[in-house]
Amino acid sequence: MYEDILVPTDGSAGASAALDEAIELATQFDATVHSLYVVDVASVGTEVGTVDLVESFEQMGEDATEAAATRARDAGVEATGSVAAGSPHREILDYADDHGIDLVVMGTHGRTGLERYLLGSVTEKVVRTADVPVLTVRADEGEGEEESDAEDTEEAGE
Ligand code: ATP
Ligand code: MN
Repeated sequence: MYEDILVPTDGSAGASAALDEAIELATQFDATVHSLYVVDVASVGTEVGTVDLVESFEQMGEDATEAAATRARDAGVEATGSVAAGSPHREILDYADDHGIDLVVMGTHGRTGLERYLLGSVTEKVVRTADVPVLTVRADEGEGEEESDAEDTEEAGE
């Protein structure tokens, strides 16, 4: 049913939760997981030093997508990692078209993670315009935060 699953990642806890879900699905369907990071060119700007900044975002993207692919492969799933540059939702949709993606799995929120919005802006645009189904995954509260252990200990005292 699903052969190629795209997991756009910005290195956030939301993207990480989406990856876990995508790996589960890929295991069931014997699918390939595609990890994609988009360097958000508009957010980088046009000032002096932009080239260095784009390069460091590219490096971060390569690390994040390679880590995601490794996590999938360790779970016995075929995986690829790629980095693109441009407007994140555009690049995500283009990648999906170009690679025969049949499902997109992404976080409800990302690095900004403003929970007062139902969905982050990248996810909202992808959900609105993608030709294929989009599965959104919410990160556990506290996931990726240092305090999560302390919270667990507090609750255990009940
Ligand atoms: P904001 O709208 O302020 O950016 P946010 O960061 O919480 O809020 P999104 O950026 O929409 O929300 O992130 C939601 C999901 O979109 C992430 O979990 C990730 O799957 C994907 N995503 C966001 N930015 C990128 C990016 N640059 N490259 C690839 N995937 C991304
Ligand atoms: Mn974001």
